[in-house]
Amino acid sequence: MSARWDNWLERLYNLRRDKTSGHERPHKPVLLLSIIDLIDRGRLARNEVLLSDELIVIFRGLFKAVCQANDQPSIQNPFFHLSGDKFWELVPVAGETVIYRPGATAGAPSVAELRRRVAYGRFDDGLWALLSDPVTRHQLREALIARYFPERREQIAAVLGAGARLAQPDALREELPPGRDAAFRWTILEIYDFTCAACGIRLVLHSGLSLVEAAHIIPFSVAWNDRPTNGLALCPNHHWAMDRHLIAPCPDDRHRGGVWRVNRQLDDRLHGQRDLILLSGRPVIPPHDKEFYPAEEGLRWREEHLTTVY
Ligand SMILES: [Zn+2]
Repeated sequence: MSARWDNWLERLYNLRRDKTSGHERPHKPVLLLSIIDLIDRGRLARNEVLLSDELIVIFRGLFKAVCQANDQPSIQNPFFHLSGDKFWELVPVAGETVIYRPGATAGAPSVAELRRRVAYGRFDDGLWALLSDPVTRHQLREALIARYFPERREQIAAVLGAGARLAQPDALREELPPGRDAAFRWTILEIYDFTCAACGIRLVLHSGLSLVEAAHIIPFSVAWNDRPTNGLALCPNHHWAMDRHLIAPCPDDRHRGGVWRVNRQLDDRLHGQRDLILLSGRPVIPPHDKEFYPAEEGLRWREEHLTTVY
C-alpha cells in the first residue's frame, strides 16, 4: 500500500473528538461509517454529501449500536465539526457565507440551519479516491471499526445490512493464555509483514499498533499447534469471517499457499456479504518465506469445515 494510504489511515485513527464526558464521543467515526454505507448502497456516487434524511437514518441506526451513557445522536455535530479535521469541507449554497470557522467555539448549527446554508459536505480529493474504490473503502471501514468500535463489530455488521445471519454470538473467538498468544501473534504478524492474507490491508502505526491479527488455521483448541505454518495474519473482518467458516483458505494445485473459498450460504444481494464473496478464488497472500506457507493439513481442515454454519 502507498504512503498516501497509510497517511489517510493514520488521520482517520486520530480524529479530533470531544472527551469532556469521560469517554470519546462516537459521532465522527459513526458519520464516516454512515457515509461509507451510503456509498456501498450505491446512493452516493459523487463527492457531494448531502445532509439527507437517508444519511440521518443510517447515522441513527449505527449510533444506537455504539453509543454509551449520555451520547445523543445529533448528526449536526460531526457534520459540522469534521471540518476541523481538515479533510472535510462544507460547501455553502450560492449566496451564503462559509459556515465553519476554525477555532470558533460555538456549537454546531441545527440540522435545519445546515440544510439552509450548506449545499453539501465534500471530502479531500485524495480521501474521496480511496472511498470511491470498493477495496480501499472496505479497508477504511475495517480500520474505523477496529480503531473506534472493536467491541461492537457484530452490532455494526447487523446495522450495515450484513444481515442477521452474519450477526452471530461472539463466543467463537478463541480465549488464549496471554503469554503464549503474544508470542504466536508477533511471529505471525512478522512473517506476514502485518498484511491481511485475504484483502492485503497492511497497517502499522508509529505507536506499534497494528490492525492485523494473528489467526490459527486449525484452532488452537483443536490442534494445540502454534507453529507458524498453522497461522495466518488477517484483518479483524476476515479473522471474524474465517472463525465462523464463512471463508476458508483451501488447498489449490496452482497456489501452494492456498486460495480463498467462501461459504455458499453467503448472499451476494447483501452488500455486507458481497465483500466476502469477492474473495472466492483469490490466492491467499502468502508470507515471503516459503517455509512458513500454510500447512496443507490446515488448509484441508478449513476446506472440510467450510460448510459448517454456526
Ligand atoms: Zn482482510
